[in-house]
Amino acid sequence: MSATRVLVLNSGSSSVKYQLLDMADGSRLAMGIVERIGEETSRLRHTPLARGGEAREWAGPVADHDSALKAVSEELARDGLGLDSPELAAIGHRVVHGGKAFTEPTVIDDAVLAEIERLIPVAPLHNPANLTGIRTAMALRPDLPQVAVFDTAFHTTMPESAARYAIDVETADEHRVRRYGFHGTSHAYVSRATAELLGRAPEEVNVIVLHLGNGASASAVRGGRCVDTSMGLTPLEGLVMGTRSGDLDPAVIFHLARVGGMSIDEIDTLLNKKSGLVGLCGDNDMREIERRIGEGDEAARLAFDIYIHRLKKYIGAYYAVLGTVDAIAFTAGVGENAAPVRAAAVAGLETLGLAVDGALNAVRSDEPRLISPEDARVKVAVVPTDEELEIATQTYALVRPAEKT
Ligand code: ADP
Repeated sequence: MSATRVLVLNSGSSSVKYQLLDMADGSRLAMGIVERIGEETSRLRHTPLARGGEAREWAGPVADHDSALKAVSEELARDGLGLDSPELAAIGHRVVHGGKAFTEPTVIDDAVLAEIERLIPVAPLHNPANLTGIRTAMALRPDLPQVAVFDTAFHTTMPESAARYAIDVETADEHRVRRYGFHGTSHAYVSRATAELLGRAPEEVNVIVLHLGNGASASAVRGGRCVDTSMGLTPLEGLVMGTRSGDLDPAVIFHLARVGGMSIDEIDTLLNKKSGLVGLCGDNDMREIERRIGEGDEAARLAFDIYIHRLKKYIGAYYAVLGTVDAIAFTAGVGENAAPVRAAAVAGLETLGLAVDGALNAVRSDEPRLISPEDARVKVAVVPTDEELEIATQTYALVRPAEKT
């Protein structure tokens, strides 16, 4: 029996999200999440998709990632899908920061672990949690290939002109200050799926991908390779997000420290957690903002307008970076669901060949689809992202040859 299953793990500081996929046909066998790890009120929610899909919930203290993964393993075992199964080919780990070094998914060994650890100063929130998840999984199945799939990898093809900030080169290099970009797994998947939707090879098309979730980023993809993206050293740069400010004059930080008397940590929290849509109007959920706008709420309207203004600036910028654009693709929670955001983002851009067909834009669907008028010069697409499938696909592609020999 050949091993075709891949477990995808996304380990955060207090949560572990997982999906088990069968790469023989790309089907999803199970998915779930353990939340609030380390607290008394931890929770596990497990959905055995291969077995009817009725979710099982379980609450109680889960002390650490080790206990969390054991609990996940037990739940999977109840469905005959345990981590000890010979059908499991590999575990694919989402790793947020791969720096400049990791341009591809990589089988994890001690050297890889050390490099992910070395990157902690540029990803202090994410990489330690990712590492804990990896070490726990490796202890559980030391014999199994474990693969790191990096959020930054897709963006390592950016030219230096896009990746460097215009600051002193020596200082930048000493502290590894440059633009890395994030959401790369999603940008890779969506840009490829968009080419497919157009019936063309990824190498032939230029796409602007707008990943609009709670975190949000745009990328310019030329012939399947990323040439620019809106997030930078950290995920704070770029678009207006659910709770992050995106672009601002860096001097705002000096001003808040010197004049506002705020500490660096307070400013960090302000810009990452209390800004963006939530800072502007108190809500970060676009559904709620749309509802409030419908009731004539001015703060919600202004938050929406600022969000759209920034989005439009990036569409224009990346249009200029690419020169010719074949398609713009909307993805993630807002991009896939919020028709008013899609309509407003391209409104008035007809001279760039961009338009949205009102009826097509209003259709709700989980399928990739075009929402531009048939004769549009630049296609506008809605392409649901699937980061887990992409991580599983990349992981399986790496381990499959080894398994055959
Ligand atoms: P993340 O993975 O970054 O947490 P998602 O891609 O799941 O985020 O997106 C979550 C966001 O998607 C929500 O905060 C909400 O703003 C938006 N969203 C989800 N469903 C809808 C909808 N039906 N209409 C408008 N916005 C939606």
